[in-house]
This record gives sequence, C-alpha cells and structure tokens, in this order.
Amino acid sequence: MRLVFIGPPGAGKGTQAEYLIKKYHPAHLSTGDMLRAARDAGTEVGLKANEYMSKGELVPDQVIVDIIKERLAQPDCAEGFLLDGFPRTIAQAEALDIMLKEAGTPLDVVLELRVPEEELFTRLASRGRADDQPEAIRTRLVGYRNQTSPLLDYYTKQGLLQTIDGLGAIEDIWSRIETVLDKIA
Ligand code: AMP
Repeated sequence: MRLVFIGPPGAGKGTQAEYLIKKYHPAHLSTGDMLRAARDAGTEVGLKANEYMSKGELVPDQVIVDIIKERLAQPDCAEGFLLDGFPRTIAQAEALDIMLKEAGTPLDVVLELRVPEEELFTRLASRGRADDQPEAIRTRLVGYRNQTSPLLDYYTKQGLLQTIDGLGAIEDIWSRIETVLDKIA
C-alpha cells in the first residue's frame, strides 16, 4: 500500500501512523523524524534544517524532495510506504508525482486527518516539543493553512483524498482509518 498521510500539527497523525504501520506494514517515511535525526546527528543538512524547524517554518522544498527521493529508492519502499509529513506544499506534491510516475508506482490513497484549528492549539501547547513554543505553533498552523491545505484540493482532483474525522477517542479514529484502508489493502 502506498499512501500519504496529511494532517495539521497536533491532529494525532503520529499515533495513528503507529497503528497503521503495525497493521499494514508500509515503510514509514516521516520527514519530521528524518530531519530531527539529522539535526541530532549534527549533519550539515540537519543543522541547516533546524534553523527553519525551530521557528516552525517549512524547510525549503528542494532539501525535502532530495531526502525523500533518496529514501523512496531504498528496497523496503518497494513493498509500500506511508509518507508522513510529506508533501507539505504543492511543489513537493508535484515533485512526488513525477518520482512515482517514473517508478510506475502511483499512490493508492491520501488520508487527511481533520481537526478544527481551535482544538489544535490547545493540544500542541500541552505537548512540550522544542518547536511547541506558542510562536512556533502559530507559525506551523498558519503554514498548514496556507501552504499545505491546498493539497486537499490537489488530491481531491486526482480522486485520491479520503478525509477522516480526527475528533474523538483514539480507537474510534483508528477504526475510521481501518474502514477506509481495508477496502484498499
Ligand atoms: P513534523 O514532525 O512533521 O511536524 O515536522 C517538524 C518540522 O520539520 C516542520 O515544522 C518543518 O519545519 C520540518 N518539515 C517536516 N516535513 C517537512 C516538509 N515536507 N517540508 C518542509 N518542512 C518539513
């Protein structure tokens, strides 16, 4: 199964991604995790990326596209993959389309985890990650609205978008996701 998981920061995407991987076993490609690992390892890309991450801004498209391109070429992705936190801009989505077209491996589905913005701020402010400072949270939410939410239209036009209600108990949200994915798997 090849899928993209889209959702604003604080929507609970990380938790649901864990459930999803346990059941369907796609390779998990989280650009946020990759960037944090690169930052902690002190690589040049990681340190440069951290200048954006700490402010809640998006890392430049080309940096992310290069990382994903390299990762998608690894053998474990041939069995399927979950793109988590990528794409986040239309330019990234277009670059992804080209990569997947060249490889002959189109996406099966794009899941959107939908949570109202008012709810997100409260959830993020209680999480305590380094980029969960109020100013960075605001920047990330605005970034999602302006740069990432246009992808919902983009994937609707491709007939790939499935929206999941992200409010309620974790188990209930998971069962909504399962219902959609069991039809595809
Ligand atoms: P996340 O863990 O997905 O919330 O990502 C944490 C931070 O990493 C984001 O706030 C961005 O600064 C950066 N980042 C992760 N994925 C991307 C992406 N696809 N494009 C640009 N920046 C990204």
